[in-house]
Amino acid sequence: MTDAQVETKQFQAETRKVLDIVINSLYTERDIFVRELVSNAADALEKFRHQSLIDKIEFDAHVPLEITIDCDDKKHILTIADTGIGMTREELETNLGTIAHSGSKHFFEQLAEAAKKDVNLIGQFGVGFYSVFMAAKAVRVQTRSWDGGDGWEWASDGGGTYTLSPCPGLHRGTKIIIELKDDAHTYASKFTIERIIQQYSTFVPFPVKVEGKTV
Ligand code: ADP
Ligand code: MG
Repeated sequence: MTDAQVETKQFQAETRKVLDIVINSLYTERDIFVRELVSNAADALEKFRHQSLIDKIEFDAHVPLEITIDCDDKKHILTIADTGIGMTREELETNLGTIAHSGSKHFFEQLAEAAKKDVNLIGQFGVGFYSVFMAAKAVRVQTRSWDGGDGWEWASDGGGTYTLSPCPGLHRGTKIIIELKDDAHTYASKFTIERIIQQYSTFVPFPVKVEGKTV
């Protein structure tokens, strides 16, 4: 890929504020980022299932509905992938660059309060994705929409900006590639991930495979 194809964008000011709050929230509750990403993956699979009832699926119709988690404990990389609805470029920008219901000062006060008391609550604010930056040095989101349009990669280190670039060769769905912070290497251990899935995500109505094994 040439540099010309990589576009750098600023996060909306509200998104930066959310990132600050979430990144600096209770570290003892860091595990919840795994639950938030698995729950987004399950939502995306559910949305695809719904789409397949109202539209004829032409692209990747036979790709099975599942969540796949891979741990690279040498490179300290955790990857969470789903074969759900995926995102277009526009959806990537809206969903991972802006905050939907952030209009009021009240929103930030409530969020900051929740993050201090119990990070478990942040999912309820519609900002669960950003919890990944509690454990991530850098995150790449590679995604291709169910309609078979072009694939895209969103990348950020949780600072002020993110990049968008074309990502050819993807199947339907979304892959989140997480480069872990030095003090968060445990999340590249399949034992840690299996434990968290058992604790928080046993009701996910789709297969969850960790290192190829269904948990
Ligand atoms: P919420 O899930 O409450 O909407 P999140 O911050 O967890 O808030 O996610 C923001 C949005 O990003 C989701 O609503 C969804 O549109 C999009 N998104 C996140 N993860 C995925 C995924 N794996 N597949 C498709 N869309 C996703
Ligand atoms: Mg979510």
